[in-house]
Formats: sequence, structure tokens, C-alpha cells
Amino acid sequence: MKQLSTLAGVVASVFAFTSLSTTAVVAQEAQTASAVVSPAKKTLADVEYRLPSTIAPTFQRIHLNIDPDNPTYSGKTNIDVTVKTPTKKVGFYQQDLTVTSARLVSGSSSFPLNVTIEEYDINWGESQNEIAPGKYTLEITFEGKVNTSSDGMYLSRFEETNYIFTQFEDMHARKAFPSFDEPNFKIPYQMTISSPEHQEIVGNTPVEKVTVENGIKTVVFEKTKPMPTYLIAYTVGPFDSAEISGLSVPGKIYVPKGYADKTKFVIKHIPEILASLEDFFGIKYPYKKMDFVAVPNFTHGAMENVGLITYRDSLLLLEDNPSVTERSRPLNVIAHELAHQWFGNLVTMAWWDDLWLNEAFASWAASHTMKTLYPELNYADRIVQEGAFGADASPTVKPVKKVVKSQPDVMDGLGLNYSKGESILQMIESLIGTEKFREGVQNYMNTHAWGNTVADDLWRALDEVSDFNLSAMMKAYLEQPGYPLIHISKDGKLTQSRFHLAGATVEDKTWAVPLKLTYQSNGKILNEVVFIDKETTVLPQLAEADWVFPNDNATGYFRWSIEPAQLNALLNNIDALNKREKKNVLYNYQALLNADQVGVDSVMKVLNSLAKDDDPAVIRAAVGVLAEFSYLVNEDNKAAYAKLLNQNYMPLLNKLTLSQSEQDNADVIRLRNQLFSLLGTHSNNDQLVEQSVKIAKQYLADTSSVPSGIAGTAIEIATRNSEQGEQGTWFNTIVEAFKKAQLPNVKSTLVYSMYFEDKATVFKMLDLALTDDITPANTMYMVVRVARNLDDHTLLYEWLSKNKDALLAKMPDYHVSRMPEFVSTTCSAENLEMANAFYAPISETYQGMARGVEIMQDESQQCMRLKSAFQADFNAFLNEQL
Ligand SMILES: [Zn+2]
Repeated sequence: MKQLSTLAGVVASVFAFTSLSTTAVVAQEAQTASAVVSPAKKTLADVEYRLPSTIAPTFQRIHLNIDPDNPTYSGKTNIDVTVKTPTKKVGFYQQDLTVTSARLVSGSSSFPLNVTIEEYDINWGESQNEIAPGKYTLEITFEGKVNTSSDGMYLSRFEETNYIFTQFEDMHARKAFPSFDEPNFKIPYQMTISSPEHQEIVGNTPVEKVTVENGIKTVVFEKTKPMPTYLIAYTVGPFDSAEISGLSVPGKIYVPKGYADKTKFVIKHIPEILASLEDFFGIKYPYKKMDFVAVPNFTHGAMENVGLITYRDSLLLLEDNPSVTERSRPLNVIAHELAHQWFGNLVTMAWWDDLWLNEAFASWAASHTMKTLYPELNYADRIVQEGAFGADASPTVKPVKKVVKSQPDVMDGLGLNYSKGESILQMIESLIGTEKFREGVQNYMNTHAWGNTVADDLWRALDEVSDFNLSAMMKAYLEQPGYPLIHISKDGKLTQSRFHLAGATVEDKTWAVPLKLTYQSNGKILNEVVFIDKETTVLPQLAEADWVFPNDNATGYFRWSIEPAQLNALLNNIDALNKREKKNVLYNYQALLNADQVGVDSVMKVLNSLAKDDDPAVIRAAVGVLAEFSYLVNEDNKAAYAKLLNQNYMPLLNKLTLSQSEQDNADVIRLRNQLFSLLGTHSNNDQLVEQSVKIAKQYLADTSSVPSGIAGTAIEIATRNSEQGEQGTWFNTIVEAFKKAQLPNVKSTLVYSMYFEDKATVFKMLDLALTDDITPANTMYMVVRVARNLDDHTLLYEWLSKNKDALLAKMPDYHVSRMPEFVSTTCSAENLEMANAFYAPISETYQGMARGVEIMQDESQQCMRLKSAFQADFNAFLNEQL
């Protein structure tokens, strides 16, 4: 499904923080609760949340009358259906529309339907007479309102002009027109849209016919291939466009008026990405055209609609030649959405509980494409499971494959569909090899093309090409929450338990884990794959080993621990490991610390060993882990921390300098930015502040003069250190530059880098979030930014209390439900108390918000537990350094 959006930097830091705060308690209560059915009272388990299979749609026509300058629209739809058993009721989905008429027609007979709405947006059209089995057409006329919440059919106002976009995944098509809005109803559609003549109208398929009458243009699109409702898309507005040449089908990029010349970079790369995927799947792109749309107000990153893929504008509107690190995300998202054209679109999950099938594969295929086409972007070094381990240790985390009844169920733990799912696929690929993996995927695609699947279909396809019992392994990982910690004793005994963080209790589970061991015995380095599926296993060969590393090439989805003497032996031979493996040792020890299995000294021992490495990617991991300790920095120890940074890390930044050169590779650029950010924030170094002010001013005068990674950090450091009297001036200059800027990424760098703590400017930042300058989809990020800047959230909640109605009305529904988690997760008891007081009266009013509050509470409490557990240990470590 949609690629999740991140406004790099802002939200990344929220996630960096949440990666600390994980736990696990008895989860899954939601799963088991529904099994308890009281005969007297209707419970959730009794309520039908899906349409019956006794009436099947076969083809749907939709005609919509849309004017972007008018908030209401009207429409008519004819759905051909087969009634399989006699009935009086026909079900369909519809939400927030007004159904003006509904009837079932067959030849000359017509059954008027009286429509009532029940739970889960299911509408029942009831006929007075019984409807016999046979073929009918369900005719519905309706009226609707365009919303601004960036789902369903929505309005986006950009530079004083209105545009209409759609976002139907996961259950939003029902907000635009009545339909059988479930992914297993894969049927052809034919869309007709009428709009004022000057508007551009684009749909999933090429145009079949255009007519104009009385200033209204009516576009009939060609009938689609069989597809689910969530992949339908259309857009109406005065777009400009640019052609994408070199594809296997025609393609264009549609952009808001005036922005066509900002698409050169992506136009250059789209054809090679598509060709690479066609080659991987062994099947040509399956549709007749492939258009892209740059959407100026979009909650998510992108959406893989058939033939009309929508993207956040920042992913398509770029400089002609962005720097190496700025290329990474747009290219990766494009590869992800194009991979969905096969995984998700050509072959679709039968129901939302298998959404991970879509997302895991699109993510895996995107990484594969990035490694193949753009080795310079270093995707081969990325350890994807690190992006999942934090959330997957949470006390209330759900399994990737979970019960889904409603839209909030889909969104709960959505990120793990991508990150954990990709990690599991990567683990399989590393076991059976990329070629066998590809063979399994191609067989699966060919067997199920144009159809629907469940997870078992994929497991079967992969089992067929491998000697391993992959089904058992995948089931354990995808149907259980969490992941194992594997402890290796000196005597070769292996024990697995469920990984959990300090202070948390969890229901224990076991997994089938493929352990790819590297160890040295009698001076020889050996490799071996062992399947661990019990609580304990004995491997005598490891008792003899000089050292052992249990995660060859760092592809395993587990944590591991070894005894102190074994760690010393491993560190003495650390250069026997590659850079992924070295990073894995460090991340693993940081996790063990958070699980209270080792002390701060053990992590620092690994960290110091890797900080001396020659490879910037490895040093960056060390700097990243050191930065994660920042939550333990306070008034009492900040001088000691600053001294440590100035002593050990400032020389490294001085050597790199703050100027980016053409020769710098992606790792060097990222290491520089990371060091700059850590040292700028905590080293209390006047010279660095002075340099930051200079760079920030240079960028504000000319945003093309400094790369945005450095510029964002420079603005943060400069504003953070500005004198009381200067803060208003900084704010005004930044907002002025923001209004002048054209590229979305430049705009984001400007406003989401500001760091102010004084009341007047904090309120100015928050007020800005409510203006038209910040789109609804970006509004929450401004609030997140302010929350992150403030140690004490009093000002934040003072403003929120006064402005909550305006804020919640402006933000997309998805952000409203996630707001507690994104905005309010904290490591302070006082902040948490304010958050609880703020959300208590509203959390049941907004769909999904109660779950957001639960996650916020879990993560905040976990962070506080970790803080109290490790504060003294960290202080002692700093004192030793002095
Ligand atoms: Zn996706």
C-alpha cells in the first residue's frame, strides 16, 4: 500500500527516540478477546464486517460530476452483480455520501431498494420482493462532499488553485462512490468524469472518448483490467505535465501548474527502474499506461494506483541534479510503487490481514532495485531490521498478520508490514539465494496473475524452490509479535527467549530461527547454517571456537548475546567481520543494554572499537549510537558529555569540514551531517555555532548554495543558540525564505529546522501550522517539531488547549489518530501527565486515537524506565572519561 511518509529529520527523530522505548507484555488480547462470545449480547465477533460472498460484482461503471471549485459533487454508478442465492438484501459499502436512489435491475424487472446503513460502512438495500438468483445491475445515484482530509476524494488547494485527488487505500473508495470496497472483489471498472472544460482529467486508463457540451467536458476512460477498488484513482485540475519517454508503455508526470520543469531528475530514472523490475519479475508492466502525479497535499509518501501513481510533491519535484543523499528517497519510493504494480496490483491480497504481502515485497523489491541500479547509494549496507526492532518490542505490538476488521486495525502497526516484512523476506533470500528467491516469486506471480492470494500461497511457492522449511519459519515470525534473543554460552549451549526491554514482562514464545554462524576454530574461519526451533540447543563446535558471530552478513531477525570473554575475543578479531556485521555487533549491544542484559561499559567498549574503524559507514553507526544516549544528558552531566564529544569526535568533524564536495560519497555526507548535528547540539562549541550561523544565513539568502542536510542542521543550531532579541528576526527571515522557495524539500528544510523555546516564537511556529502556508498533510510535522524542541511541554499544551479544534479539523484523519504517538511521546513524567490530561476528553471522539494514546503511554513509560535504569551507569561512564 501507500509508502509511509516521513519528513526526514523531524519524524525520523521521533522514531529514533521510539526505538529506545520498546517492551513487550502479554499482547494479542485483541485477537483472543473476540473468541469469547456472550450469547445474550452482540459482540464484535458477531458483527459482520465484510460483505457476504453470495452476491458477487462482475463489472462497475461510475460517472462523477466534479468541479474542483465546488465542494459538492454528484454521481451515478451501475454495478453488474451475480446473485447466487435467493435474497431480499443487497449489500455494498458507502460512507458519508447521500444515496438518492438505489435499485436492482434485470431486463425489464426492477427492484427498488430501501437503503439502511449498518456497522463497518455496510449499506443494505432491501427489496420488498425476493430476488431470485441471476444476473442484475445495481444502480445507485448519490451526492457527496469533497473533503480536505487527504483520503477518499479530496481537495487540495495549492497556490490559490484547487485540485482534486484521490486516496482510496485502504477503505476510502467508499467515501467517493458506492462500491464493493474489498480487495478480493477484483473486477473491471469504467470511469466517466465530467468537469468544467478547462480542467485536465486523468484516470487509471487511457481516454476512450471526450465530449464537450455547454462548457462541461466529459471524459470516458477505457475499461480497466480486473482490479480492487483501493487502486482506483483520478485527478482533476489545471495540471501541467511532462512526458516520461523510454517506458514500455506511454507515461506522463502531472504536476501543479508551473512545476513541469522540476521533474527532470525523476524522468531520467523512471525508465531504468521500470525495466529493472520487468526483468526481475519476468513479466512486462501489466497496464496500458503509467502516469505519475505530484500531489501538494498528501498524508502518505506515495500510492501505487493502477496507471496513475500519486506521490508527495517533494518526491517528484527536485533539483535537476540532487546530491547523492537526496536522490535516495525519491528513487527508492518510485521503485517501491512500481514494484507494487506486480505485488499488490497484478496479484492482490485477499483481505487486509495479508497487507504485509504487498508491503514487504514492494519494500524488498525496491531495496533490490536500489542495490542493482544505484550501488553508490549503499543500500547493500542498510540493516533493514533495525527499523523494525523498536516497534516490534513494544508491549502491545500486534503480529504482522493480525485480525483486521476496520480501517484503524489496518493502520495499527502499519510500519511493521514494511520493515519486519522486508526483513523476513531478506532473511529468506539470504538462506536460499537471490536466484532461487526470484524463481519462487516468478512462479507465484505467474500462478496468481490478476487474482488474489493469502500468505500460504507465497509460502508454498517459496517452499517449492528451497530445501528449508520456510513455512514454519515465516509463520512463527509473522503470526507472533516480537522476536527472539538468542544467547550463546561459552560451552556451546544456545537458549532462545523473547526479546524484551528492561522492566517489561512478556509472554514467552519460540521461533524457528535460521542461524548463520561465523566462527573461528583452530585458526580457521568457518560458516554454518543451523535452524534453532527449541528453547535450547547445544552446538559443541562453538564450545571449541576462538570466537563466534551468529549473524552472517547481519540478515537475521533476532538479537543475540555472548559472554564477556567471548565479546572480547570477537572485538579482538573485529576485522574478520564486514561492515554490516560490525554495525550489527554495536546495534545488538545497544539493544542488550536496553534489555538490561549488559552495562553501559559493554556498549561503549564496542562503540569505541568501531569509532576507530576506517569506514565512514561504521563510524557513523558509532556516532548514531552515541547520539541515542542523548536522552540521558541533563544539566548535571552535560559538561562532561560536551567534553567527551569535543575530545573524541570534534577532530573527526574538523577533518571532514562542513563543506560538501562532489567527491564525497553517500557515507561521508551522512557521517558529516550526523557529526554536525550531534556536536552542534551537545558540544557547546562556540566556533561551531559561529559556523552554523554563517551557513544558515548563506542558505537563507540562496537556498541552492548549501546542501539541505547541512543547511537544516545549521538552522537548528543557529536558532537554538540565538539571543532572546534575535529570535523574532530569525523566525521572520526563515518564513520569508519559505514563502519564496519553490522546491518542497527546501520549504521543509526551512520551517522544520527551527529551534525556539521562548513562548512568543514557539507560538508563532505553532500558529504557522494552522495557516494555508502549511498544507494539512504537513501540519502535524510542525507540532512534532515544536514538541521535540521543548524539554518541558507546558507551552505546547497551553497552545494545543486553545487551538485543538482548529488543529484537529485541519489535520488528515490518519494524523489525528497518530498524533498522541508522534507529538506527545516523551521521556518525562510531567510531560506525560499533561499529555494524558489533554487526550483524555478527546481520545474516544476520534477514530483510532485511543490506540495512539496507548502507544504513546507505552513508549513514554518505557523511556522513563530506561532512564532510571541507566542514568547512574551513564554518569559513571562520563566521569571515567574526565
Ligand atoms: Zn507500498
